[in-house]
Amino acid sequence: MSAHKAKKQFGQNFLVDQSIIADIVSCIRPQAADNMVEIGPGLGALTRPLLKQLNHLHVVEIDRDIIARLHNDYPQEHEKTKLIIHAGDALEFDFATLDTPLRIVGNLPYNISTPLLFHFTRFSARITDMHFMLQNEVVERMVAEHSTPAYGRLSVMLQYRFVMEKLLDVPPESFKPAPKVDSAIVRMIPLPAEQILVRNEKLFAAIVSMAFGQRRKTLRNTLRQILQEADFAALEINAQLRAENLSVADFIRVANYCDLHGKTTAGNL
Ligand code: SAM
Repeated sequence: MSAHKAKKQFGQNFLVDQSIIADIVSCIRPQAADNMVEIGPGLGALTRPLLKQLNHLHVVEIDRDIIARLHNDYPQEHEKTKLIIHAGDALEFDFATLDTPLRIVGNLPYNISTPLLFHFTRFSARITDMHFMLQNEVVERMVAEHSTPAYGRLSVMLQYRFVMEKLLDVPPESFKPAPKVDSAIVRMIPLPAEQILVRNEKLFAAIVSMAFGQRRKTLRNTLRQILQEADFAALEINAQLRAENLSVADFIRVANYCDLHGKTTAGNL
């Protein structure tokens, strides 16, 4: 087959640095019997070393040219095939169709990384862990602590459901073509259901969006539709603070308080 030409619209930056690839695989620590799915196998930089250690591996790939290559390299009708190819958009893939407990890995297309992370969230009860390559700036936001510049909606919306850890920095030269940004590997482990303390996830998401919608404004201002002075007092939260000063636990308290007090009917909730 002729050489594959990387496609920008699919965020194709292929890993070529063998020592980084080995480091990523050792972060993932694949075990033979794992139910693992790789998002965007591309030219197989991670797929091949993972397959060496796994009994089987699912992949979800959108690019028809790459799918044709995968079918060529791993004929699906072959009895002993270890690679199960799912052609299509990972954003629409129903991960509930795969066996549990599921492990998800991937060097994600950066242009859709945030919607993908939220898509995976829907299946978190079925997932043991996830390891992703992402833009470093996104990983910094995911793991940021409150009252730091990187802390925002993404930090809160993921931290209430996942324990997350940045594992590895990956420089642009590790890819071909080299992306314009630094990258990093992050591990995400879903919290068990009993540790997810949010009573009403829709309301929680709406409050977090409202608070960070205008992040330079005070909470008195951004949350005025749902919290009055007496509510701030009852919550023991200073209304002069900004969203970035509230911890994830604070946001949970605010949302649960609003849920308990029926404060769910404001226009944009
Ligand atoms: N895993 C390979 C590597 O590390 O070299 C390729 C990584 S490349 C950054 C992203 C891969 O995701 C590409 O193979 C691309 O075609 C695929 N991709 C892009 N958008 C996708 C989508 N919506 N669903 C599934 N795969 C997608």
